[in-house]
Amino acid sequence: MVTVCMLAAMSPTPQPPRPPGAACVRSSGDACPGTLRLHRADDGALARIRIPGGVLAAEGAEALRQAAERFGDGELHLTSRGNVQLRGLAEGDGPELAALLGDAGLMPSARHERVRNVVASPLSGLDGRGAGDIGPWLAALDRLVCGSDRAAALSGRFLFALDDGRGDVDALGADLTLIARDGEGASLRVGAVDTVLTVPAAEGPRAALLAAEAFLDAARDTGAWRLKDLPAEVAAALPAEVSRRLGEAGTTAVTGRHPRPATALEPVPGPVGGSALAVGVPLGRLSTAQWRLLTGAGGFRLTPWRGAVVTGVAPGRAHALLGDLAAAGLITGPGSGWSGVGACVGRPGCAKSLADVRAQAAAAVGPPGRLPVYWSGCERRCGHPHGEWIDVVATPTGHRISHVRGDRPGTPVTVRDDPDALAAAVASARGPRST
Ligand code: SF4
Repeated sequence: MVTVCMLAAMSPTPQPPRPPGAACVRSSGDACPGTLRLHRADDGALARIRIPGGVLAAEGAEALRQAAERFGDGELHLTSRGNVQLRGLAEGDGPELAALLGDAGLMPSARHERVRNVVASPLSGLDGRGAGDIGPWLAALDRLVCGSDRAAALSGRFLFALDDGRGDVDALGADLTLIARDGEGASLRVGAVDTVLTVPAAEGPRAALLAAEAFLDAARDTGAWRLKDLPAEVAAALPAEVSRRLGEAGTTAVTGRHPRPATALEPVPGPVGGSALAVGVPLGRLSTAQWRLLTGAGGFRLTPWRGAVVTGVAPGRAHALLGDLAAAGLITGPGSGWSGVGACVGRPGCAKSLADVRAQAAAAVGPPGRLPVYWSGCERRCGHPHGEWIDVVATPTGHRISHVRGDRPGTPVTVRDDPDALAAAVASARGPRST
């Protein structure tokens, strides 16, 4: 028996920035939505289903498709953490939805369903790059998190990242990042610092869980949901505390430097290795027909860039499959104008939005740009990218366009009420993609 609760309308989004080093003061509890805790949006109830590492088995994929058709708006909405959202649910759908997804293995622990937030290098083990296959880490970490009473107290926003050493998800700003190193080592980054703790690779998932539990102790009475919410001196002391706890548990951690990559590089759409295909999904929205095409072709992984990777493609099938996916409207090559274009849900789904930014982003699609662009209906910028990107925000006085580097916006340009001028300004800010 599972209990489903409905939240009052509130944003499932990060809070606005606060001064560096300042402690976080929360005015309410963590309202991040899940499968058992629905969020009331303007287009109906919303469920967010965690898919650790974006890795989805056939049974889970089919259950999600059925859920989108039976309860939702007929689409599967991909998030910037490789999770799936269902929108447009009725308020009473919760229990049936939870039963359907639970039966398909998508909810191994009801108590932990909102804290299984794990992004992972989506091409790990497929293209010969990286220092190791993080698949075993992913299974082990999920098992450890679901088996920890303490971890059930993490917020629904706390994020683990498993990077296979290529630096793609290491740049996503997770709270805890485990990085495969050449040889038998695993480096644990606690927050956004360049200092890491290196342990034997087999100890990596346990070290990540132990660090999460240390964070919970450090965050007690602070209201912090994420590491960046901690007072600066508390966050700075955390790696040493994690090292001490590892020592107590019999694992020696070696402290060293491993600078965090500035840019999170997503897979280039197209064939990967000999038996996989990467695709982009325009605005992260998949119809159930597109979903069936993608998930029926082999193994399936969602990426933290609102894309997907199909694995285990039979020899000789890749070319035809790529054609089918392109015909279905997916991004199958870097020459698509949709490459690098993202947007929040905007109007009419979100009451805070000042514009239908998804429609505006679609109208502005042109030749592929050099930099990613993200359109937001308000200053919260839900799901925005990291690293270097173009920020387009709807404001009461028009759309404000800024070039962001390392989460610092440059000098903005504002365009009012002129779609052609807006598209031209966005294209200019992104710059042309070199061929
Ligand atoms: S308008 Fe967009 S950025 Fe603002 S709260 Fe809604 S979804 Fe988030």
